[in-house]
Amino acid sequence: MGLIVQKFGGSSVANADKIRNVARIITETYRRGHNVVAVLSAQGDTTDDLIAKAAEINPRASKREMDMLLSTGEQISCSLCAMAIEAMGYPVVSLTGWQAGIRTNSTYSNARVKRILPERVLAELDKRSIVIVTGFQGINKYDDITTLGRGGSDTSAVALAAALQADLCQIYTDVDGVYTADPRHVTGAQKLDEITYDEMLELASLGAQVLHNRSVEMAKRYSVNLEVLSSFSGQPGTKVKEVTKNMEKVYISGVAKDSDIARVAVIGLPDEPGIAFKVFSALGKEKINVDIILQSIGRHGTKDISFTVKHEDMDRAKELLEERKEAFRFDHIDVVDTVAKVSIVGAGMVNNSGVASRMFEALYGAGININMISTSEIKISVLVAKKDADRAVQAIHDRFFNQYGNNGN
Ligand code: ADP
Ligand code: ASP
Ligand code: MG
Repeated sequence: MGLIVQKFGGSSVANADKIRNVARIITETYRRGHNVVAVLSAQGDTTDDLIAKAAEINPRASKREMDMLLSTGEQISCSLCAMAIEAMGYPVVSLTGWQAGIRTNSTYSNARVKRILPERVLAELDKRSIVIVTGFQGINKYDDITTLGRGGSDTSAVALAAALQADLCQIYTDVDGVYTADPRHVTGAQKLDEITYDEMLELASLGAQVLHNRSVEMAKRYSVNLEVLSSFSGQPGTKVKEVTKNMEKVYISGVAKDSDIARVAVIGLPDEPGIAFKVFSALGKEKINVDIILQSIGRHGTKDISFTVKHEDMDRAKELLEERKEAFRFDHIDVVDTVAKVSIVGAGMVNNSGVASRMFEALYGAGININMISTSEIKISVLVAKKDADRAVQAIHDRFFNQYGNNGN
């Protein structure tokens, strides 16, 4: 009998009945003889509602105070779940991030877990108590509450699983597992029995919300046995692991969309050495991550550089470059947020030519224009108009998964 960490997302704890359902899953695991640490998110839309509340008072509230506020959502769901388990007659204790020893750096609103001091949790488990821990939050060196970024409860769960050397980390959510595309929006999306850490990391980073990307990074680093499954259906989920059976055979495992981006174009830069370095080091110093980059061929001594950034960094990126307009000697900057990134991911694509052309053919067939392209060993991303993004995902998914049977082989 081992230790299982179970994480339940916002929709799994959205109301009293759902909390009772979660309490039932936890206590059934416990009754089978396992020790259980459960990590919970805030109920339903609580975190969004708290953000809206803050905006009514101070739209420019400091990130420290935002973390103080947002962390309360998880405290509510955890205490309520502990009460449900108490009512069922089991020993249980709920703990905040700091009580559970989750130490983070000081990047408020997007903190990283630095280490976990597991003594309290271990002491409770020794007593055979069920331990419920607030997801999404930790504590920094100033003893301030921090949060791990939206969707960060997955990372709390994996971090605890790694620190406690749990036998399994189960991420319970509102779909049956990881699918070949978002099953809520893409017709014909298929559930995957298993997926590699690397593919899952790409999918999560490219917009598949089902797992927080840092949770996958951590699961890979500490070889955490990770499983994604539904709180409601009782069906087997998706295993995320180092190696999967079908890595060679399957070209692509999924299609993802990220609409939360913007494209910045710096027009009329001098066509001379060092320009790209200057532009991107100015952004890098301010911790603005740049994604797809496209540089035009020089003509008449000038060139253009376009790149994508997260939507939240759009204004700051523009500002930083405008401040350097004279030094960088460009003509003007053009920024648009009417774009989205659509990507395919697959460990098998490295040895299979023709994957990119099939993706582009699907877009051509749907009459969708590609603005930018970027590739790596296991992914291809394209930038398209936001209004076309859902159609693009569907067309690409159809091309690989439906048209010629499973995975377009
Ligand atoms: P939770 O509140 O449980 O953390 P999330 O809303 O963060 O749940 O993540 C689950 C959602 O992720 C699903 O409802 C689904 O719409 C979305 N999703 C996006 N891409 C995928 C995918 N490839 N497989 C499964 N779900 C996906
Ligand atoms: N409650 C937080 C959010 O809504 C964390 C999470 O759900 O994982 O982002
Ligand atoms: Mg989530």
